[in-house]
Amino acid sequence: MTPKSVVALALAPVLACALVAAATGAAATQERPPSQRSSHELRARELYARVIAMPTSKGNDQVPAMAEFLAGEFRAAGFPAADVSVVPFEGEGDKTASLVVRYRARGGKGDKPILLMAHMDVVVARREDWERDPFTLVEENGYFFGRGTSDDKQGVVALASTFLRLKAEGFVPRRDLILFFSGDEETTQATTVNMVRQHRELIDAEFALNADAGGGTLDSNGKPLYFALQTAEKTYADFAVTVKNPGGHSSLPRDDNAIYDLAAALLRIRALKFPVMWNDTTLAAFRQAGAMTAGELGAAIGRFGANPRDTAAIAVISKEPAYAGQIRTTCVATMLTGGHAQNALPQSASANVNCRIFPGVKIEDVRLALQQAAGSGAEVKLTGEPMSSDASPLRPDVTKAVTRAVQAIRPGVPVVPAQSNGASDGLVFRAAGIPTYGVDGNFIKPEDDFAHGLNERLPVQSFYDSLEFWHVLVTELAGRRR
Ligand SMILES: [Zn+2]
Repeated sequence: MTPKSVVALALAPVLACALVAAATGAAATQERPPSQRSSHELRARELYARVIAMPTSKGNDQVPAMAEFLAGEFRAAGFPAADVSVVPFEGEGDKTASLVVRYRARGGKGDKPILLMAHMDVVVARREDWERDPFTLVEENGYFFGRGTSDDKQGVVALASTFLRLKAEGFVPRRDLILFFSGDEETTQATTVNMVRQHRELIDAEFALNADAGGGTLDSNGKPLYFALQTAEKTYADFAVTVKNPGGHSSLPRDDNAIYDLAAALLRIRALKFPVMWNDTTLAAFRQAGAMTAGELGAAIGRFGANPRDTAAIAVISKEPAYAGQIRTTCVATMLTGGHAQNALPQSASANVNCRIFPGVKIEDVRLALQQAAGSGAEVKLTGEPMSSDASPLRPDVTKAVTRAVQAIRPGVPVVPAQSNGASDGLVFRAAGIPTYGVDGNFIKPEDDFAHGLNERLPVQSFYDSLEFWHVLVTELAGRRR
């Protein structure tokens, strides 16, 4: 998932103080005992328990079983078998799968489909490290505990339940809807890459909504602050900066030295500033945040939102780590290796430089900039196979439907466009030319975000609210025109 905390980090400092007043203390739907839950809510909870019990982390080969289980639920609910596809995929040491379900419009009419996505795999969780069994859904003190309760089995269940509920209600969408659950988002994202490259016909859509990104933020008292509509993700890329040298005996030092030369190259990389960039999402986010923030920083944020060429505003924003990454590509040294013996001149020294690349910028252009800064004595190489993507343009229909869905569960809470510094499967879709919007229907406190960590949890209230959120969102976008 794209950590929500990134969005929260970027906006919470300014919104926290300002929005408490604006957020009207809107109550979510009331907390209720299980006996007062609707049948579709109870059904969703049952599905949640079933899929949490499947340890779908890499190496367990349990994703295909989860996909088959869900496929059976869709067929039993009346989706034709031909519209429910489990697509197996064998990655490195990993047997996984994707699930695709098509909810057809009447007579195959309508605009290009809308795709809804989440992922079935989870990060590894070891029983001995957790307070409770990570693969048993536990409801305790207002929270659901278990691996995937937040990232991202709640997303899978919310989307699956929405399809099952709409089918039971006799809903016929005005355009085809496609459900896509990937099988290795947390590791290689190969199932998603495979789908967009080899099975495009199954997942081709006008745009996609991603349950694994964006979403609502609460303050530490549980008051809703804002809902992030995520339209872009920066590209994650690692570069190895390496200096080689013939080496020799340390009793005979020379001027050229792999460690000193690498250190000098890294200092030049530290001084490298990438150009300031913006898109409609970041400008909208800056304008909203600026209007609600006091002091010099708030003024700078607002001025940048109005005119991203304001050099004084850029200077202020660049000094704030929470915002600096929102206006440009950033690169930073994160690891260091070098030398082979205490009494030898180093034959090689290498550093990892981690970059978060602004949407739309080519990875190779960043490598070239690093190489130029490092100088000819060092070699800068891309490691891994990162993928870059553009920002998705804000769409009025999506923004309006998301706003309606947010108002249904948290009246009065603003929807704020957001660009994340991390990446999810949404990046693969955007790179394939399918605009993608991260709209996780949950509202959580940043301190409750244990995604990937120990004792992952989700507020019970949030789980049920997000079912309502998705029902409103899908019927707004694909229901009968009013
Ligand atoms: Zn995730």
